[in-house]
Amino acid sequence: SPNTSEIPAEPALRVEGLTKRFHPSMPPVVDNLSFAVAPGEIFALLGPSGCGKTTALRLIAGFERPDRGQVWLGQENLTHRPPEKRGIGFVFQDYALFPHLSVFDNVAFGLRSLSPSARRQRVEEVLGLVGLTVFKDRRPHELSGGQQQRVALARAIAPGPKVVLLDEPFSSLDAGLRQVTRDEVRELLKRSGIGAVLVTHDQEEALSFAERLAVMRAGSLEQIGTPEEVYTRPLTPFVAQFLGRTNLIPGEARGIEAETPLGLLRLAEGAVGPVLLSLRPEGFVLEPGGEAVVLSREFKGHDLTYRVRLDGRDYVVQADPHCPCRPGDRVRLEVRDPAVVVGRRGGEV
Ligand code: ATP
Repeated sequence: SPNTSEIPAEPALRVEGLTKRFHPSMPPVVDNLSFAVAPGEIFALLGPSGCGKTTALRLIAGFERPDRGQVWLGQENLTHRPPEKRGIGFVFQDYALFPHLSVFDNVAFGLRSLSPSARRQRVEEVLGLVGLTVFKDRRPHELSGGQQQRVALARAIAPGPKVVLLDEPFSSLDAGLRQVTRDEVRELLKRSGIGAVLVTHDQEEALSFAERLAVMRAGSLEQIGTPEEVYTRPLTPFVAQFLGRTNLIPGEARGIEAETPLGLLRLAEGAVGPVLLSLRPEGFVLEPGGEAVVLSREFKGHDLTYRVRLDGRDYVVQADPHCPCRPGDRVRLEVRDPAVVVGRRGGEV
């Protein structure tokens, strides 16, 4: 199992063996997907474009039918229920607000089963929660992107779902607004106790937004864990590389150490035999004078990244922003952090 963290004892949402194929001659777009989300938990599905994230979310919402597998909410099997009877909220990538309806009526849309006075009360309550009370009579086009985003969220949470599904909800916002809106949405979800499944291809977004995340590749799960777990203990080379820059280094493991082109490296977990190791750029310390040569230097304000060559191999190394090394300088590569075994060489990696 790719799980490194516990499956919640009483999950709000449980997906079991979900499989979907659009073309008989093609591999499944979603392939035997299983995970569980605890009540109130913020969960992310992270993966590259085309790996099946949106399809997974649409299967959970009921907009697509799975070939195999089940969707459970608490004790209820939702697999054959239409979307509007699932008790799950959905925020689309483009928000999908009704352009001709006011903010108030957009939020009221999913509350048709309530009496007019109960509906009004609930809309006012939710608009207050997302801080849009003063905009209730406006149309969506009279709002900023971030405000439209909050209307979409308000509409999704108004009927009181246990879980909301968020499909790349921040991707159309510019970088500054994205960060702020992301924090607001996260806080709001935590405050209202609603669980969430966020779909994103942005690793930084998944790491900062989610309490746990699942890394997807070609329809399948590679690893589930907390942001810290998947970042510091990737189980595969794919996860190691998808969650930020890393160095993949071949080695010969002998228990808690491995012989590598960088010398003897300490391992995060014991292993024996030919292995592939991952070592993050921040796992190094760069010292002036040595056998390695600086190839390039990339300054990004808060960090400084070097590409360094040693014995015909290139390494990505992070240094503190004051490091004086320049391309062409000779340096020594010291390894500070333990390396993580992400695969076996020879066998399948
Ligand atoms: P992105 O981040 O680019 O949105 P994604 O991970 O969400 O990608 P999906 O949108 O789920 O991926 O698509 C996965 C694959 O399934 C793609 O190759 C896509 O072309 C295909 N696909 C999605 N929906 C359909 C459909 N209705 N019919 C046929 N193929 C589809």
